[in-house]
Amino acid sequence: MTSPADATTEVAVSQESVAMVTGAGRGIGAATAERLAAEGMAVIVVDRTEQDTRATVAAIRAAGGRARGIGCDVAVAQAVTAAVATAVEEFGRIDVLVNCAGINRDRLLLTMGDQEWDTVLDVNLGGTMRCSFAVGRHMRRQGHGRIINFSSVAARGNAGQTNYATAKGAIAGFTRTLAAELGPHGVTVNAIAPGFVATPMVDELAARLGGDRDRVLSEAAKSAAVGRIGTPEEIAATVVFVARPESGYLTGETVHVDGGRP
Ligand code: NAD
Repeated sequence: MTSPADATTEVAVSQESVAMVTGAGRGIGAATAERLAAEGMAVIVVDRTEQDTRATVAAIRAAGGRARGIGCDVAVAQAVTAAVATAVEEFGRIDVLVNCAGINRDRLLLTMGDQEWDTVLDVNLGGTMRCSFAVGRHMRRQGHGRIINFSSVAARGNAGQTNYATAKGAIAGFTRTLAAELGPHGVTVNAIAPGFVATPMVDELAARLGGDRDRVLSEAAKSAAVGRIGTPEEIAATVVFVARPESGYLTGETVHVDGGRP
């Protein structure tokens, strides 16, 4: 017998399903957008500017997928409202929201200014909240949906990242709480906490630490049980798993994908 929950989650990923991925212009977000498109979803590629979305949109289309780029700064409420309204108007629905947009502005707390604190909180945590609010309202109306947030292993504590660790730690609580609020409406909410993944964000971190990218990456690799850093595609594969119809009983969780760290 099919329960109401099964019936609603069955349409979460199908040929006509629509995913919105923020921060999809590069890195993990781009890999996720491309993988969801390869799974048959139409993908709304969101990044700071429409220009930032073009490479991902082109890659999806070149592979035969359906994509639309929208420029939207997730730190700006009106921009998020407008982007979601455009997406819903053009596609009629949003089945999967991936809140991947993120930044870091690393500094020891005792040298950190208000702006570095506020910006990191506003993009990572505030952006996740704003997009979840705008898309969550549509998902509640639809009676189904998947919201997938991005936390980080940095939430466990990492010197120089009080702002980032605070935002990423808060995302775990946000995720669990929103899962409780939207669960009765057929919407699951989960987070993924990656370890060290080779993306432009990590390249920029290596540059800040003195420019020796290979040394930074090999040091990071040592802290993982598998002895290497992760790839954006491996994180995208976990997003797809969480987005699947058969994952409807998984909600409120933060899934650590970090190659096994102590
Ligand atoms: P990245 O810097 O390579 O890409 C982030 C993307 O987000 C960029 O395209 C950027 O333009 C976009 N973005 C930033 N601010 C935005 C804003 N205000 N509005 C819209 N888009 C914005 O980063 P990544 O390494 O691919 O990381 C993706 C997510 O995974 C982030 O949330 C990050 O915190 C998280 N994460 C990354 C790692 C890692 O090792 N790479 C580890 C743990 C968590």
